[in-house]
Amino acid sequence: MKKKSIQTTLIHSDYQAPEGFAAFPAAIHHASTVLFENVAAMRSGQWKEKNAYTYGLHGTPTTFTLEARLAEIEGGNHCLLAPSGLAAISMVDFALLKTGDDVLLPDNVYNPNRELGRWLSNDFGVTARFYDPLIGAGIAELIQPNTKLIWTEAPGSVSMEVPDLPAICQAAHAKGVLVALDNTWSAGLALRGFDLGVDIVMQALTKYQSGGSDVLMGAVITRDRALNDRIALAHMRLGMGVSADDAYLVMRGLPSMKLRFDAHDASARKVAGWLKARPEISRVLHPALEDCPGHDIWRRDFSGAGGLFSVLFDARYTEEQTDRFVDSLKLFGLGYSWGGANSLVMPYRIQGMRRNWRDSGVLVRFNIGLEDPDDLVADLAQALANF
Ligand SMILES: *Cc1c(COP(=O)(O)O)cnc(C)c1O
Repeated sequence: MKKKSIQTTLIHSDYQAPEGFAAFPAAIHHASTVLFENVAAMRSGQWKEKNAYTYGLHGTPTTFTLEARLAEIEGGNHCLLAPSGLAAISMVDFALLKTGDDVLLPDNVYNPNRELGRWLSNDFGVTARFYDPLIGAGIAELIQPNTKLIWTEAPGSVSMEVPDLPAICQAAHAKGVLVALDNTWSAGLALRGFDLGVDIVMQALTKYQSGGSDVLMGAVITRDRALNDRIALAHMRLGMGVSADDAYLVMRGLPSMKLRFDAHDASARKVAGWLKARPEISRVLHPALEDCPGHDIWRRDFSGAGGLFSVLFDARYTEEQTDRFVDSLKLFGLGYSWGGANSLVMPYRIQGMRRNWRDSGVLVRFNIGLEDPDDLVADLAQALANF
């Protein structure tokens, strides 16, 4: 072959890296095209089997490694990555629901999941119905012959009710209905969804797994191979891909995740306990405290709590006042999401989000970060002193 031109040399390098490189982190593999050894290997490669690499969108050593580690943490066997937590939720819905089917969602569900339910109802001929998150075994009465999927969220990430997962799963399975759990609040560390009976666990890796407030990613984890394959088909058809760099960032967060989670948990309980004693606050909605609906279930099923909880201000305070309280916090950023080092605060108009919300006080949600909790308490005290 004649000497390559500079243009081709720019594309085909002769450099061969020394073999035998080993290090703790997984390598970051960037690829759209994945090269096959030969035509026979190309023809036998099956993206679904995960025993071969076929195309960047279907997985690389980087994403396969992250998927395996997430399945392990959750106690599952299979995992699929999605570009956000919400994408992971929609992937489950599009995999398991078709026109004429029915899906049940808790009334306290993550709001974009509620929006997705409404979209499915309005434009796709699927009915989405909302149930009381504390319904427990009573969900049996809502299950129709066309009900295919029940979403659960433990606890609901704004109003914090803790559902009775074993009771819901038992009622669902008696009628052949699948149960999906949004397990983001506990990061898969403090709640063993599969052991309680759920079929599908979804995680927003954006939160504790990343821990850096800098990545969006989601995961869907299953134990059952056939169920994984149904979701994998939707994953492929919808073209769900994640960036190799983002997958690496999430993997980088995993070794410290439990230490971070436990630190968030300890600080959040300290701050929640302090808020509970304040006259401005009527209720602290933290699953580890008795005020929280489903607290007994939390005690039975969970081994920890993480950093996210809400409070209800006494009804004598107007929204104008509580907005002033939020704006005068200095260590709490005003923003969505959680799971990072920085504490966050967010007021919610909960009365407009729920069907049967009785409390008239303003709801404010806190993500307790990794700052010294005494400094956070001091910040809350100065904001409460003058609002
Ligand atoms: C953040 C979150 C999601 C969605 O995750 P994104 O990556 O932000 O799309 C879903 N469910 C819960 C409970 C969440 O907190």
